[in-house]
Amino acid sequence: MIKVGEHGWLEKDAPVAGPLDAIVRPIAVAPCSSDTHVMHGGAGPFENRILGHEAVGIVEEVGELVKNFKPGDKVAINCVTPDWNVQNVQRKGSNPSHDVGLMGSFKFVLQEDGVFAELFKVNNADANLVIIPDDVPIKSALMAADMMPTGFYAAEQANIQLGDTVVVFGIGPVGLMAVAGARLLGAGRIYAIGTRKNCAELALEYGATEIISYKDGNTVEQILEKEGGQVDSVIIAGSNASAINEALALVKPNGTISSVNFYDISEKFDIPLIEWGLGMSDVTLKTGFCPGGGMRMEKMLNLIQAGRVDPSKLINYEFEGFDKIPDAFIMMDEKPRDLIKPAVFFDKIE
Ligand code: ZN
Repeated sequence: MIKVGEHGWLEKDAPVAGPLDAIVRPIAVAPCSSDTHVMHGGAGPFENRILGHEAVGIVEEVGELVKNFKPGDKVAINCVTPDWNVQNVQRKGSNPSHDVGLMGSFKFVLQEDGVFAELFKVNNADANLVIIPDDVPIKSALMAADMMPTGFYAAEQANIQLGDTVVVFGIGPVGLMAVAGARLLGAGRIYAIGTRKNCAELALEYGATEIISYKDGNTVEQILEKEGGQVDSVIIAGSNASAINEALALVKPNGTISSVNFYDISEKFDIPLIEWGLGMSDVTLKTGFCPGGGMRMEKMLNLIQAGRVDPSKLINYEFEGFDKIPDAFIMMDEKPRDLIKPAVFFDKIE
């Protein structure tokens, strides 16, 4: 990102490892809609900032206090890399992704340079890196950087119990992983709301039991009618703030709404009091974003290794070579209708 609305190549000095850091050479990266959001000024007027927060790579160098990793290790990195020495991440039940304040642990791009580079720095390397086992494909490990842990968090914070009925708003890559997460957590019926054909097919593959399209009428009414009433949990992984109102209309008393949407600064949310149960509904509205860290990554890779989920299916546009990063980034920005997730592989891979 050269400045708001402008992207291109930047020549910068190589990052320097502090005592707890690692320097990583990426072997694959994936652009994300939040990178394009940032480029357009959605997170502030950054200048000369390296974009990118989804990567897998090879450790190039480690700081003097890093114990568990060494140059040559093939590693996966969560897009969120908390500073684990901050007390705020020790709060019981807290999401460690807000280490020094709101989204403070989102170091790549928001706090410092990101991963679309020849080398990038990972803070707190021992707590934030994980070795990629040989039987975990690079494509899957790459989707474990953000799409999978974010989508799964959407399902986790939805408080899904065995047999629950769940609605998922949005079947982009995060919503698709929320569907997969809801199934793994034991949801019974899963209604996925979306219209794009390839995403709908993949949603069914990941565990949706029904696809709901606004083209067939009001989505809330369609679900209430099919279900014969309200549902246990609603996940918002797409759409805008109006989805919260729709979710309130869909969720039962005592139910949970789980949102992982990054809402726009210009949006406003008005609580409709009838749907809010006049304040008596005991509905939980939980918001949040990707929990980071090495242990989280280990869990994601465990799920892939055990064959519980294959997140590599999200990647439907592949680019080869470091110099193709802008092509993939522009594709993410323009979002052709059939795009699910683009990825760039620096070397040929299987
Ligand atoms: Zn991302």
